[in-house]
Amino acid sequence: MTATTELQGRSIIGFGRSQASAGLMYGTNAATGERLEPAYHSATNEETARAAELAGAAFPAYRAKTRQERAAFLRRIASNLEELGDRLVERVMLETALPEGRVKGERGRTCGQLRFFADMIEEGSWVDARIDTADAERKPAPKPDLRSMLRPLGPVAVFCASNFPLAFSVAGGDTATALASGCPVVVKAHMSHPATAELCGAAVLEAAIATAMPEGTFSLLFGEGTRIGQAMVAHPAIKAAGFTGSRTGGLALVKTAQSRPEPIPVYAEMSSVNPVFVLPHALEQRAAQIAAGLHGSVTLGVGQFCTNPGLLLVPVGGPGDNLAASLAEKLRATAPAAMLNATIFKSYSKIVTTRAGDARVRTMVPPENGERAAAAALFETDTATFLANPDLAEEMFGPATILIRYGRFEETLELARTMEGNLTATIQTAPGDEQAAAQLVAALETRVGRIVFNGYPTGVEVCQAMVHGGPYPATPDGRTTSVGGRAIERFVRAVCWQDAPADVLPEELRDGNPARVLRIVNGERTREK
Ligand code: NAP
Repeated sequence: MTATTELQGRSIIGFGRSQASAGLMYGTNAATGERLEPAYHSATNEETARAAELAGAAFPAYRAKTRQERAAFLRRIASNLEELGDRLVERVMLETALPEGRVKGERGRTCGQLRFFADMIEEGSWVDARIDTADAERKPAPKPDLRSMLRPLGPVAVFCASNFPLAFSVAGGDTATALASGCPVVVKAHMSHPATAELCGAAVLEAAIATAMPEGTFSLLFGEGTRIGQAMVAHPAIKAAGFTGSRTGGLALVKTAQSRPEPIPVYAEMSSVNPVFVLPHALEQRAAQIAAGLHGSVTLGVGQFCTNPGLLLVPVGGPGDNLAASLAEKLRATAPAAMLNATIFKSYSKIVTTRAGDARVRTMVPPENGERAAAAALFETDTATFLANPDLAEEMFGPATILIRYGRFEETLELARTMEGNLTATIQTAPGDEQAAAQLVAALETRVGRIVFNGYPTGVEVCQAMVHGGPYPATPDGRTTSVGGRAIERFVRAVCWQDAPADVLPEELRDGNPARVLRIVNGERTREK
């Protein structure tokens, strides 16, 4: 695909395009609601099965590619995305109503992410190679030679996210990690941005052909989640799934995956309200600054981030009132803006309208939504009411948040201990708050994936140390992350070779360490042996 190639509205199945159709779907101009050309042909059930079968057939050859070959493939995808230039940026803006700066930033992150994983697999130590050499003299029984490392699971079904049309979609984080680890992917486009998906899909396809990857390493399907998404996850060739979206969608896929004759993992990122705890000394010293930071974080991207701060814990009393008033003033002055699609706008309108009529909260900033544009909203309650009504913690996916006023610090601890799992929690702290902060950290460590200090939860760095995951319902399995180097661990498992002849061992496990990777040899972490 070049910057001028025509959009075809057809799924990519292996190296070809779909020839059949199970119906037509259209993209939409997110700002106006106008229908966009071309029509997208929904993949048939046979085509969906064919994509999964091709992925299964490609797996042995793809996983046998060297790490340098796979790295070249990922880098080629990144440069293809960049070569699409303004055409890609303009289409994303049209289909999502996201501003140019955000789209360009997200493209940079997407390409950076592909190159990050290319560098990581080329360096090679991520495979976590471990060697325990034999000891024939050991008593009472000789010790065998044992060598293990992480190996790819098999084809991965990837579900594109509506709120990250590039970084968590066709060539986004799930695809990059699966391809990096040696797993083929079958992607389901999000029909909120089908042409964006097609452009990115064509960039991956060209890269697969140019770098001699086997057919089936990548397919892209257009169509409904309840039909083709379910069929992908149910197909025996698929060995794992990556998903970002609603709790309902994620759990439906988990159920399908668990009901298969061979159950598979679904790494779903679903729902998070990202509490922010403002401690008393921080409030005294930085109320205005915190209000400004919270306003930026709540309204960023029209609030359509999984890390949007949805619960703000602020002490009762004058300084807390000042913070609340300042935040309310800023939110009131924020212009309504178009959301990613009509469904998300409708869900947002529904939940904030319900909240505004809810006697358990006080509406500080009413949601004055436009016809298609979401306005910011602010609600207030106290810890006792919030703790007695867990439904108040339901995610409001958009620029809305709820202030929870606390009298005693212990109330925040109770909330931290009893709240559902989240991707993040944030602590605003200052000298004098140390003891309280330490107690909160201890409580939060078991409830969230990332604890932010004196910052804001939006903004997820792609790096080795990042954790973007968390206990249920943030994800169904809080042991992993969907962003950062550890994301690759979702699509691999450890395999052990016992007394294996040298020529069957992967390069990373051979004597003399020809791959020069960091490994554990007889208990010592080394690159030298
Ligand atoms: P979604 O409705 O869960 O859809 C995400 C993807 O999953 C789509 O491709 C969808 O297919 C598919 N899908 C949905 N239900 C399915 C099912 N039962 N079986 C198989 N596939 C299914 O999420 P969304 O469209 O991105 O946004 C809807 C809501 O999700 C938002 O309003 C927000 O509340 C939440 N959300 C949360 C996050 C977060 O990170 N916390 C991110 C995005 C969205 P279709 O195209 O056919 O619908």
